Amino acid sequence: MKKVRYIFVTGGVASSLGKGVSIASIGALLEARGFSVTIQKMDPYINIDPGTMSPFQHGEVYVTEDGAETDLDLGYYERFTSANLGRENSVSTGQIYHSVISRERRGEYLGRTVQVIPHITNEIKNRIQLLAQMNPELDFVLVEIGGTVGDIESVPFLEAIRQFRLDQGGDSTMFIHLTLVPSITDGGEIKTKPTQHSVKELLKQGIQPDILICRTALPLDADVKEKISLFCNVTASRVFSAPDIDHTIYEIPQIFHSENLDEEIIRYFRIENKSGEYLMNLNPMLSKWDQVVDVFRNPRRHVKIAVVGKYMALHDAYRSLYEALTHGGFPRHIAVDFIKIDSEKVEADNYRDLLKDAQGILVPGGFGERGVEGKLLAIRFARENKIPYFGICLGMQCAVIEFARNVLGFKDAHSTEFDPDSSHPVISLMEEQTSVVNKGGTMRLGAYPCKLREGSLIADCYMQPQIQERHRHRFEFNNKFRAAFEKAGMLLTGLSPDETLVETVELDRNLHPFFVGTQYHPEFKSKPLSPHPVFTRFIEKSAGL
Ligand code: GLN
Repeated sequence: MKKVRYIFVTGGVASSLGKGVSIASIGALLEARGFSVTIQKMDPYINIDPGTMSPFQHGEVYVTEDGAETDLDLGYYERFTSANLGRENSVSTGQIYHSVISRERRGEYLGRTVQVIPHITNEIKNRIQLLAQMNPELDFVLVEIGGTVGDIESVPFLEAIRQFRLDQGGDSTMFIHLTLVPSITDGGEIKTKPTQHSVKELLKQGIQPDILICRTALPLDADVKEKISLFCNVTASRVFSAPDIDHTIYEIPQIFHSENLDEEIIRYFRIENKSGEYLMNLNPMLSKWDQVVDVFRNPRRHVKIAVVGKYMALHDAYRSLYEALTHGGFPRHIAVDFIKIDSEKVEADNYRDLLKDAQGILVPGGFGERGVEGKLLAIRFARENKIPYFGICLGMQCAVIEFARNVLGFKDAHSTEFDPDSSHPVISLMEEQTSVVNKGGTMRLGAYPCKLREGSLIADCYMQPQIQERHRHRFEFNNKFRAAFEKAGMLLTGLSPDETLVETVELDRNLHPFFVGTQYHPEFKSKPLSPHPVFTRFIEKSAGL
């Protein structure tokens, strides 16, 4: 079996320093050197998963191929690397306790007292090791410990990784600590004290960091690095700065590379080739990241996309969606600017004004009735004015409702999610779903295959007859209405292979230049190095190309 190396990333001083993006960027650099990596997130909250949390609190729920509802950081991991993540990559305190308590109820602890050490910490360690057991080809397992060092919640995780190093030895484990190095006044004196305290906090848990990555406004100079090195007991060559970025998070792999972070990781683990030299080969993949960054630096044109949704105040609530739209501009060097519109504020007397600058309109996924009427107004505006439209999940369902009401003349058409008594329930629960009552984990989740009608707009985007995309919803297009929609020009061009489920809808090309709805969430599969074809086409059409 290959020797697998573990890199643990903790965060200190403040939350939201970008641990997820940092660890994903390290993953990208290791992959660029030819290593196989996976990334795991440890979330200290008690929820089993974020599936039932409000996007306002926790940002979007990221769905993996195998249908796990996970933290949005997994989205960064998949966008920056080619790792295929699944349920095992997302761990929460809730899951850990749930499995330990279930085992206790089954009597598997044979009468022993069940305790945080060793039972909870063992369970955490097992979860870390599971990934390498499942994939013996892995070179690196990167583990992000959520939260900030010093939080009560993260203590068992820190204890578990401390033990992990004791079990595995220092030559296969590394601790990276991401901290903040602020300056009191703009461009003024740089303060290392918070970092010193944060490292002390880690030391209290028995963890001496091997590498420090310091978030700063500007790159740290040698003197500051020396000072941090001295006080934190980390060699100066292993103190890195992560300065604020100019354009895009996709610069971060290059920034880390220019600071030699990837090289230091290779040295630390003493990864050598057969002749005993460190594996320092140049980075073939970095040129691709260069191209991505170049689009941000030198866009050839801009396009304005209106996103009409419920959680507009928090960018993270639709994180993957904004990323996918941005990637969609890459092939033609188009910078995508967002017009964020709160659907609850869209009314009959203001929608024209709100949408007047939009070159393309997108309605994202969502739950609950709030704002639905505003979304319907925006969709009608896009349909009637031939503005490119892309509806995702609820955005597709709303496009179906709008068409039913305003084209087919079914005035009370609705989804049974919002109006169970509608006489035209164009979106409804499948028969077999009607008995479902639990809220968590009761949806159609994860990847399902879908076949595309030859010659359709959507098939032209993908350029293949069958695709596989990720879902997260309960309600479906109601098959009773298929014929009526097709006849009037809303074509049901993507179906499940057994043809029982409608997966995509589109307006006949003679009626509209680009009007597409997908029951699935394509945004989860878009990456900067391989933008998603439907987003790419949507952006091109919106830019008038
Ligand atoms: N609320 C809708 C459903 O459950 C749509 C879900 C979504 O947009 N993700 O089917």
